[in-house]
Amino acid sequence: MGAGQLGQMLALAGRRLGLEMRFLSPDADAPAGQVAELIVADYENEAALAHFVEGLDVATYEFESIPAAAVRFVAERVPTYPPLEALETGQDRGNEKQCFERLGIPTAPFAIVESMRELREAVDRIGLPAVVKTRRLGYDGKGQAVIRTRDEIAGAWVKVAGVPSIVESFVKFSRELSIISVRSTSGDTAFYPLVENHHTEGILRFSLAPAPNITRETQSTAESIAKRVMDELGYVGVLAIELFETEQGLVANEMAPRVHNTGHWTIEGADTSQFENHLRAITGFTIGSTEMWGAAGMVNVIGNEPNVAMLRQIPDVHVHMYGKSPKPRRKLGHITVTADDLEGVRSKVSEVRRVLTR
Ligand code: AMP
Repeated sequence: MGAGQLGQMLALAGRRLGLEMRFLSPDADAPAGQVAELIVADYENEAALAHFVEGLDVATYEFESIPAAAVRFVAERVPTYPPLEALETGQDRGNEKQCFERLGIPTAPFAIVESMRELREAVDRIGLPAVVKTRRLGYDGKGQAVIRTRDEIAGAWVKVAGVPSIVESFVKFSRELSIISVRSTSGDTAFYPLVENHHTEGILRFSLAPAPNITRETQSTAESIAKRVMDELGYVGVLAIELFETEQGLVANEMAPRVHNTGHWTIEGADTSQFENHLRAITGFTIGSTEMWGAAGMVNVIGNEPNVAMLRQIPDVHVHMYGKSPKPRRKLGHITVTADDLEGVRSKVSEVRRVLTR
């Protein structure tokens, strides 16, 4: 379910594993439809959902804003992973934060708010600066507002359109990291090295893997966070958790119950890509090695068509275009670079970014 670029990359990985794949999306131009069978229908259309599940051995989804009712309909007819509870946790920031809290995973102090009065009261408790985020449907920095002074509370509430939201403390972080993990149907887990992520205007611009200067202890803390979440949710498939690195250690920001933009480098940079491992997990295969060799970087292509001819001239640069039409802020593709070490990756990432902004 879902047929964006994540679905497209799952389809490509699935072909190599000998899987036959079918996608469902309301968008006739969805990227996965360019490489696999696509049923075009709304997620609310039960006749289409029934047609979609016909003959399937297993189902999965590639974006977390999919209506839970559609996933429930499918899950009642065919094994569906990650489990519905994981979707309902990942698609609602309130549930997500409560899950972190329940598991003793550090996360910014927060409150669930449903009115401006509740927001004011919560700000009194939590303090400023703070961030308001809609519980649902927020992504790439949408549905968020920063509150620095009490005068900004009303404006922030308008910005999130007065829908059920959370408000949380602004975290003083030194950098943003993510951990991509995978759990099989038999409960085995594996983890990729922590990734360092760079955002501008709420959109991921580039990632470095492994994240520079990560101690063994930080890696194992991140793995333990991911493992606790996966075990709690009876998780099967790939899970991404975004983390802030702070002076007090790692602080969990959010999770995505799916393959993730910060794991795209694994296609060329790791023994087994996140896409293959997701499919291996949900189809009951053993998980493939998550070892990486050397270092890798990933740069998103956002808004404008890139000069692919120029990019191809840089050695060890891999272009992935998703076949989407250009639009401001839209992710059109990504570029992976590989090198023996992070020094080499950094210089190639800079070169790629120069070509992209030309
Ligand atoms: P999110 O959609 O939660 O990933 O937020 C988008 C971006 O906003 C994050 O990648 C951070 O750069 C920033 N951000 C989100 N929440 C906080 C926070 N509590 N404190 C500081 N920055 C934040």
